[in-house]
Amino acid sequence: MTLRLYNSLTRQLDEFHPIHPGEARVYSCGPTVYNYQHIGNMRAYIFADTLGRTLKLKGYDLSHVINITDVGHLTSDADAGEDKMEKAAAGSGQSIWEIAAHYTHAFKRDVARLNITPPKLWSVATDHIAEMIDFGKAIEGNCYQIDSGLYFDTATVPDYGALARTVADEGESRIDPVAGKRHPQDFAIWRTSPPGEQRQMEWDSPWGKGAPGWHLECSVMSLKHLGHPFDIHTGGIDHREIHHPNEIAQNQAHCACPNPGANIWMHNNFLVDRGGKMSKSTGGFLTLQTLVDAGVHPLAYRLMCLQAHYRSELEFTWDNLFAALTRLKRLVQGIEKIAHRFDAEPRGSLDVAEVREVEDAMSDDLNTPRALVLLENVVAGKGHAGDRYTAIRKIDRVLGLRLATLHRTDLRLRPADAAIDAETIEARLAERKDARAAKDFARSDAIRDELAAAGVEVMDGDPLGWDWKL
Ligand code: AMP
Ligand code: ZN
Repeated sequence: MTLRLYNSLTRQLDEFHPIHPGEARVYSCGPTVYNYQHIGNMRAYIFADTLGRTLKLKGYDLSHVINITDVGHLTSDADAGEDKMEKAAAGSGQSIWEIAAHYTHAFKRDVARLNITPPKLWSVATDHIAEMIDFGKAIEGNCYQIDSGLYFDTATVPDYGALARTVADEGESRIDPVAGKRHPQDFAIWRTSPPGEQRQMEWDSPWGKGAPGWHLECSVMSLKHLGHPFDIHTGGIDHREIHHPNEIAQNQAHCACPNPGANIWMHNNFLVDRGGKMSKSTGGFLTLQTLVDAGVHPLAYRLMCLQAHYRSELEFTWDNLFAALTRLKRLVQGIEKIAHRFDAEPRGSLDVAEVREVEDAMSDDLNTPRALVLLENVVAGKGHAGDRYTAIRKIDRVLGLRLATLHRTDLRLRPADAAIDAETIEARLAERKDARAAKDFARSDAIRDELAAAGVEVMDGDPLGWDWKL
């Protein structure tokens, strides 16, 4: 089955035909490293990784670039407000560079914990300032200069904003006015430093000392590292409205042609909670570490994301997360059984139909919910254990749940605030099991009460029988 992907530009499922035969070149908008990434941000990278794994499954040689934004992203999506990096540094007593290094490190740690394949290149914005200035010079004919910097005139490209879904008025009203702009949706290519103000990050340019506008970096780095045009550009759905239309406008100006720069533009929907979209600026966001501290393995969060299609909103609740953890435990337990059995069985030779069906599901715009059900069919199904184990490993290559190496014990994390260590819990639970086997329920209840006093709730109702939680 040919790979079909939903293209936000054409608003339909498009067949994937690579520009360079046998290759897939993908660019994903990366984190702004002024704070920790919340789990909503991580959904965007789990999605990009799922796409990358699917492209590899389909036999393409993948070139994936993710950028690290360490300059230029303002506190408002338009050109008003402060640079997020400058603002974070101002209150912290650390330099911007220290802040960027700290949060980049934390981000990459979460990437590893979620088993997200690192891209071929992490492309850092401040490593590309000279190229951004060159790009700005090349598109000067589409720009005009005002006091606050060099602005892109969006009326100079065909079809500006074709990607965005907002009604024109609605889109424009979201953009804060900057004095002197010709059209509300015009955006900064270069932001000159206000006279008398010294920024931590500023560079000389033909338009004065200053810093690049945020949208510029992605055009410069994607075209530099992947060519113009390249195959697929990804990001969260918020980027469909402003950031990506602006990238497209810059790309069109740069090639003096209507080509948007990438053939397919894909967007993951939001992780939401009761308060709406999870976001950094509103505070109160959850990081992967928050989940780990609550005793949840990071891959349970990955599974929770895969349970929803990437284009659907996904609601975060602790119940959903614990349900995903239980599902992961069941998978791991089932696979451990198969692994034990096939050591004893001779090699089979049957093909497992689900492997092909998973490939079809993934080829259908990354249908991960369906792939998970197929995986569970293999785990629960009949047939030669060796074949099933091989099939599970193949399927997991695209899902990325590390099912071949995860063990039950890995999935039981000790919550950060537990007043008792994991070994003691284990020992008490074993004693309790013996007591129950001997029908000594008074002793069993006493152990349960003792654990409860230490904050550990024993879940007798858990069909897996090896669970405890705080
Ligand atoms: P940022 O660090 O704010 O530039 O965001 C990094 C990535 O996360 C971008 O692709 C965003 O579109 C995406 N993103 C931000 N918030 C969410 C959310 N609540 N759910 C899913 N993706 C998000
Ligand atoms: Zn971007």
